[in-house]
Amino acid sequence: MPSFVIQKHKATTLHYDFRLEVKGVLKSWVLPKGPSTDPSDKRLAIQTEDHSIEYADFEGVIPEGEYGAGTVIVWDKGIYKNQKDDQTISEGISKGHITFRLEGKKLKGGYSLTFFRKDKNELWILVKTDDEYADARRNPVSTQKESVLTGRTIEEVEEENG
Ligand code: MN
Repeated sequence: MPSFVIQKHKATTLHYDFRLEVKGVLKSWVLPKGPSTDPSDKRLAIQTEDHSIEYADFEGVIPEGEYGAGTVIVWDKGIYKNQKDDQTISEGISKGHITFRLEGKKLKGGYSLTFFRKDKNELWILVKTDDEYADARRNPVSTQKESVLTGRTIEEVEEENG
Protein backbone atom coordinates (compact mmCIF):
# COMPACT_ATOMS: atom_id res chain seq x y z
CA MET A 1 0.00 0.00 0.00
CA PRO A 2 1.25 3.51 -0.77
CA SER A 3 2.31 5.78 2.06
CA PHE A 4 1.21 9.18 3.24
CA VAL A 5 2.95 11.67 5.48
CA ILE A 6 2.04 14.95 7.14
CA GLN A 7 5.00 17.16 8.01
CA LYS A 8 4.55 20.07 10.36
CA HIS A 9 6.65 22.88 8.95
CA LYS A 10 7.59 26.05 10.75
CA ALA A 11 8.71 28.28 7.87
CA THR A 12 7.73 31.91 7.29
CA THR A 13 4.32 30.73 8.47
CA LEU A 14 3.50 27.54 10.36
CA HIS A 15 1.69 24.99 8.18
CA TYR A 16 1.29 21.27 7.56
CA ASP A 17 2.47 19.55 4.37
CA PHE A 18 0.16 16.71 3.36
CA ARG A 19 1.82 14.22 1.01
CA LEU A 20 0.52 11.12 -0.76
CA GLU A 21 2.78 8.62 -2.49
CA VAL A 22 1.60 8.44 -6.11
CA LYS A 23 3.59 6.79 -8.91
CA GLY A 24 6.94 7.07 -7.15
CA VAL A 25 6.66 10.67 -5.93
CA LEU A 26 4.96 12.50 -3.07
CA LYS A 27 2.06 14.58 -4.38
CA SER A 28 1.90 17.51 -1.96
CA TRP A 29 -0.55 20.04 -0.55
CA VAL A 30 0.01 22.77 2.04
CA LEU A 31 -2.60 22.79 4.80
CA PRO A 32 -2.41 26.26 6.43
CA LYS A 33 -4.56 25.08 9.38
CA GLY A 34 -3.63 21.39 9.35
CA PRO A 35 -6.05 18.46 9.05
CA SER A 36 -9.31 18.10 10.97
CA THR A 37 -11.19 15.06 12.27
CA ASP A 38 -14.50 16.97 12.09
CA PRO A 39 -16.47 16.21 8.87
CA SER A 40 -18.05 19.69 8.99
CA ASP A 41 -14.62 21.39 8.65
CA LYS A 42 -13.43 22.35 5.18
CA ARG A 43 -9.67 22.75 5.25
CA LEU A 44 -7.86 24.65 2.50
CA ALA A 45 -5.21 22.54 0.74
CA ILE A 46 -2.89 24.37 -1.65
CA GLN A 47 -1.21 22.03 -4.11
CA THR A 48 2.54 22.45 -4.17
CA GLU A 49 5.60 20.82 -5.75
CA ASP A 50 5.95 17.03 -5.79
CA HIS A 51 8.61 15.81 -3.38
CA SER A 52 10.81 12.71 -3.57
CA ILE A 53 9.75 9.61 -1.62
CA GLU A 54 12.89 9.89 0.55
CA TYR A 55 11.68 13.24 1.89
CA ALA A 56 8.83 11.50 3.77
CA ASP A 57 11.16 10.71 6.70
CA PHE A 58 12.83 14.10 6.82
CA GLU A 59 12.83 15.81 10.17
CA GLY A 60 15.15 18.66 11.08
CA VAL A 61 16.14 22.17 10.14
CA ILE A 62 16.41 23.45 6.56
CA PRO A 63 18.90 26.34 6.54
CA GLU A 64 17.87 29.89 5.66
CA GLY A 65 18.13 30.63 1.97
CA GLU A 66 17.23 27.07 0.95
CA TYR A 67 13.88 25.90 -0.40
CA GLY A 68 11.52 25.26 2.53
CA ALA A 69 13.81 26.98 5.06
CA GLY A 70 12.60 26.32 8.60
CA THR A 71 11.96 23.39 10.94
CA VAL A 72 10.17 20.17 9.99
CA ILE A 73 8.78 17.25 12.01
CA VAL A 74 6.94 14.16 10.82
CA TRP A 75 3.58 14.88 12.43
CA ASP A 76 1.82 11.77 11.10
CA LYS A 77 2.73 8.91 8.80
CA GLY A 78 1.19 5.69 7.56
CA ILE A 79 -0.44 4.13 4.54
CA TYR A 80 -3.49 5.02 2.52
CA LYS A 81 -5.98 3.25 0.30
CA ASN A 82 -7.78 4.69 -2.71
CA GLN A 83 -11.54 4.50 -2.06
CA LYS A 84 -12.60 4.53 -5.70
CA ASP A 85 -12.68 1.28 -7.65
CA ASP A 86 -13.09 2.93 -11.04
CA GLN A 87 -10.11 5.29 -11.01
CA THR A 88 -6.54 5.47 -9.73
CA ILE A 89 -5.44 8.23 -7.34
CA SER A 90 -3.36 9.68 -10.16
CA GLU A 91 -6.42 9.88 -12.44
CA GLY A 92 -8.44 11.38 -9.59
CA ILE A 93 -5.85 14.11 -9.02
CA SER A 94 -6.00 15.01 -12.73
CA LYS A 95 -9.79 15.19 -12.52
CA GLY A 96 -9.75 17.18 -9.27
CA HIS A 97 -11.32 14.76 -6.81
CA ILE A 98 -9.97 11.86 -4.72
CA THR A 99 -11.23 9.94 -1.72
CA PHE A 100 -8.98 7.70 0.35
CA ARG A 101 -8.66 5.99 3.72
CA LEU A 102 -5.74 6.88 5.93
CA GLU A 103 -4.11 4.52 8.35
CA GLY A 104 -1.80 6.78 10.31
CA LYS A 105 -0.95 7.06 13.99
CA LYS A 106 -3.10 10.17 14.48
CA LEU A 107 -5.38 10.26 11.45
CA LYS A 108 -7.53 7.32 10.42
CA GLY A 109 -10.44 6.69 8.10
CA GLY A 110 -11.76 8.44 5.05
CA TYR A 111 -10.83 11.85 3.67
CA SER A 112 -11.51 13.58 0.40
CA LEU A 113 -9.56 16.19 -1.52
CA THR A 114 -11.49 18.28 -4.03
CA PHE A 115 -10.13 20.91 -6.40
CA PHE A 116 -12.12 24.13 -6.46
CA ARG A 117 -10.11 26.96 -7.99
CA LYS A 118 -6.85 27.93 -9.59
CA ASP A 119 -5.23 31.26 -8.89
CA LYS A 120 -1.47 31.38 -8.42
CA ASN A 121 -1.74 27.78 -7.16
CA GLU A 122 -4.28 25.01 -7.39
CA LEU A 123 -6.65 25.31 -4.44
CA TRP A 124 -8.29 22.19 -3.01
CA ILE A 125 -10.43 21.42 0.02
CA LEU A 126 -9.65 18.57 2.45
CA VAL A 127 -12.66 17.11 4.29
CA LYS A 128 -12.96 14.23 6.75
CA THR A 129 -15.47 11.58 5.67
CA ASP A 130 -18.27 11.06 8.20
CA ASP A 131 -17.24 7.55 9.28
CA GLU A 132 -16.31 5.69 12.48
CA TYR A 133 -13.17 7.84 12.90
CA ALA A 134 -14.95 11.17 12.52
CA ASP A 135 -14.80 13.14 15.78
CA ALA A 136 -15.78 16.78 16.05
CA ARG A 137 -14.30 17.08 19.57
CA ARG A 138 -10.86 15.72 18.76
CA ASN A 139 -8.34 18.28 17.64
CA PRO A 140 -5.06 16.41 17.08
CA VAL A 141 -3.29 19.48 15.64
CA SER A 142 -3.41 21.08 19.09
CA THR A 143 -3.48 18.03 21.39
CA GLN A 144 -0.97 15.73 19.63
CA LYS A 145 1.89 18.01 18.67
CA GLU A 146 4.74 15.49 18.76
CA SER A 147 6.60 13.82 15.90
CA VAL A 148 5.45 10.24 15.29
CA LEU A 149 9.08 9.35 14.48
CA THR A 150 10.91 10.80 17.49
CA GLY A 151 8.32 12.12 19.95
CA ARG A 152 9.79 15.60 19.71
CA THR A 153 7.83 18.82 19.21
CA ILE A 154 8.83 21.26 16.49
CA GLU A 155 10.14 23.63 19.19
CA GLU A 156 12.39 20.87 20.59
CA VAL A 157 13.81 20.11 17.15
CA GLU A 158 14.38 23.81 16.62
CA GLU A 159 16.22 24.17 19.95
CA GLU A 160 18.37 21.09 19.39
CA ASN A 161 19.51 22.51 16.08
CA GLY A 162 19.68 26.14 17.19
MN1 MN B 1 6.11 23.26 3.79
